[in-house]
Amino acid sequence: MFEEGLEDLTMGRGVSKWWEKIGKLVVLYGLDLTKIQGGEWKKHVDKQVRRKAIQDWREEVENKYTMRYFKFKEEPKFEDYLADNWKYRFSIFEVRTGQGPLNWLLQKWETDNDGKCSMCGSEEETEEHLVVRCRRFGSIRNEMLEILFQGLSEEGWNTFQQMGDSDKMAVFTAVHPGVNKDLSAKMVKRLSELVGGLIVQRNVKAERWEREKR
Ligand SMILES: [Zn+2]
Repeated sequence: MFEEGLEDLTMGRGVSKWWEKIGKLVVLYGLDLTKIQGGEWKKHVDKQVRRKAIQDWREEVENKYTMRYFKFKEEPKFEDYLADNWKYRFSIFEVRTGQGPLNWLLQKWETDNDGKCSMCGSEEETEEHLVVRCRRFGSIRNEMLEILFQGLSEEGWNTFQQMGDSDKMAVFTAVHPGVNKDLSAKMVKRLSELVGGLIVQRNVKAERWEREKR
């Protein structure tokens, strides 16, 4: 059964819903399905997803200027997923690294997905759009701004205001190497909660859309 499905997938033949999902995981995480023995797939997929995420994270840390701060942090944690459904499994870590399953990415294999924001539809749905620009999250963003205003030094706050959206994204998610250094642990935690809450709202809306399509 497993071997047949794998062969169908490899040969590009029509596959069941379950296999379609596995196919998406292959694209998202670069899973190597040939190493899976029938029956062990759940454990294996989980292991591979983690391994790939850690590997990506290390590469990002080494390559990206804006990720330098991660060198000083622990490895990403995987227990803080924001949904049970595989498609909406999404951690704060993924928000920060821009790797979550949002429409900009999902549209690559979902023919009925236009890549636009699930909440406002005005722009491509990326982490940055949701956190920094989406008009549906104005009140959550105000709360984040308030924390930053209170927590940042005057210089940090001024710097923040001059920033472009992608740097602002790093500040909102409390990972900007220069600007966030004055935030207390409590403030960082609250920012993470707010970002998490925003993603949960997005997931609820996206799930509802999906149910209505069926
Ligand atoms: Zn939006």
